[in-house]
Amino acid sequence: MKIRFCGAAREVTGSKHLLMLNDKRILLDCGMYQGPRKESFAKNNAYPFDPRSIDSMILSHAHIDHCGNIPALSHKGFKGKIYSTLATKDLASYMLMDSAMIQARDMEYIKKHEKANKPNQAPIEPLYTVEDVKEAMTQFVGVEYEKAFPVEDGLAACFYDAGHILGSAITHFVVYDKEKNQRFTMAYTGDIGRRSLPILKDPQYLPQTDYLIIESTYGDRFHEPIEDVQAQLADIVNKTAQKGGKILIPAFALERTQELIYYFNELSKNKAIPQIPIFVDSPLSVKLSDVFKAHPECFDEATRKLIHGKENPFGFGTLKYISDPEDSKKLNSYKGPCIIISASGMAEHGRIVHHLKNNIEDPKATVLFVGYQADRTLGRKLVEGLKVINIFGKQYKVNANIVKMDAFSGHADRSDLIDFVSNIKGLKKIFIVHGEEQQSLTFAAHLKELGYDAYVPKFAEEVEI
Ligand SMILES: [Zn+2]
Repeated sequence: MKIRFCGAAREVTGSKHLLMLNDKRILLDCGMYQGPRKESFAKNNAYPFDPRSIDSMILSHAHIDHCGNIPALSHKGFKGKIYSTLATKDLASYMLMDSAMIQARDMEYIKKHEKANKPNQAPIEPLYTVEDVKEAMTQFVGVEYEKAFPVEDGLAACFYDAGHILGSAITHFVVYDKEKNQRFTMAYTGDIGRRSLPILKDPQYLPQTDYLIIESTYGDRFHEPIEDVQAQLADIVNKTAQKGGKILIPAFALERTQELIYYFNELSKNKAIPQIPIFVDSPLSVKLSDVFKAHPECFDEATRKLIHGKENPFGFGTLKYISDPEDSKKLNSYKGPCIIISASGMAEHGRIVHHLKNNIEDPKATVLFVGYQADRTLGRKLVEGLKVINIFGKQYKVNANIVKMDAFSGHADRSDLIDFVSNIKGLKKIFIVHGEEQQSLTFAAHLKELGYDAYVPKFAEEVEI
C-alpha cells in the first residue's frame, strides 16, 4: 500500500490523504484550504491526483477544513461512496450548503466591487454550487460507531469516537495488500478532541495499530484546564449584567455554539448567572443545534442524564434561537442586559459584525472571544487591543470591554496526544499531519525521544508501507 499526503501536510487546513491499495484509491477527507483568497483559490483547485480516479472516500468529521472540498471533487468526476458517521453526514449537508452560499455571496461582492477596478483580472469562480452539494450528498453512506464495514477489496474500516465535534471519528483499518500478501492495521485520527469537553464522549483508545496518521494542531502546546470555563463565564456575565450591558460572543456555528448553550444552561439552572435572555442569532447555528438534538447516541453520560431527566440542554427558558433577519435586527433596539451568541467566530462576516457595529462604542458592553483569532481578522484586531476599528467602511471607537478566554479548544494538546499514542499497542510508524510545520516537527521530535518512529511528510509526498 502507498499513502500520498495531498493536504494538511506541514500545515493545518485542506486535509486530504490518498491510500493506494490493490489497484483502488481511497481518499481520507477532502478538506478546503483556508487562507488568503488567491492562495486558497489556487490550492483548492489543484489536486495531486485525478478526482475521477478515486474509488471511495472516508470522512472524519464535518469541519470545512476536512469536508469542504467534497462537492468540488464530485463535480470533477468522483462518483464513489463517502463513508462517515451518521451525525457527520447530517452536519456535513448543512455545512456544505452554507459554504456554497457563502461562496456565491463572495462572488457577487467581487464582481460588483473588484471587477470595476481590475477588468482584466482572470475571474475567480466558486469551487462549487448548491447543486453540486445536493449531488455530493447522494454519495454519503452513514455508518455507526464501532461497526466494521468493507470499503474496498482488502480494506475494512471501523469508526471510533474522536471526541472532537459531534460525529467526529477516528478510522481504524484492517488492510490486506494482495500484491505483497501482507496483512496489517492502520488508523487515521482526523482531529482528536480533549477529555471532559461538554456534550461529547471522550476520545476512544484504539485496538492494535501498526501505522498511524495523527493530527498535531497543538503538538507542542498545553491548554488551560477546561474545569475553569464555567466560573470564568459566570464572572464575565455577572459583571456585564450588573452594568446593564450586552455580552456579545462571536462563535462558530458548529460545536462552540452548542458548548456555550450547554454551559449557559448549567449556569442558569444553578443560578450562577442572572435570568437574562440568551439569543443564538445565526440561521446555521439553529439548524446545527437541531442536528445535535437528533443524535443523542453521540452524547456523554452527563448530557444523556439531562435528556433522560426530560431536560433539554439545547433549549431552556431564557434561550431563544433566531433565524429570521428581521428578528435579528430587532435585537438592536433591545434594552437591558442580554447574551448574544452569533457567527462567525472570528467576526469576519455574519450577523455578529452588525451586533459589534451597534455595541462596540458602548462602555457597558462586553465582547467575549472564545476561539482562535487568525491574523488580520476583525476578531484579532479587537483581541490585540486596537482602540479604533473599521466596520463596513466606517470607523468606530472600541469602548466595550474586550475579553478572551483561552480555556476553550476542541483539539487535544500535547499531553492528550501522547496519552492517545501511548495507549496503542504495536505501533510501527507514526505519520504526523495537520499542524503548522513547527508544531508537527516538535511533536515528532518528542515522540522520537519516547522511542517511536515518527515522520512528518511533505505535501504530495508518497510513502510505501
Ligand atoms: Zn476539526
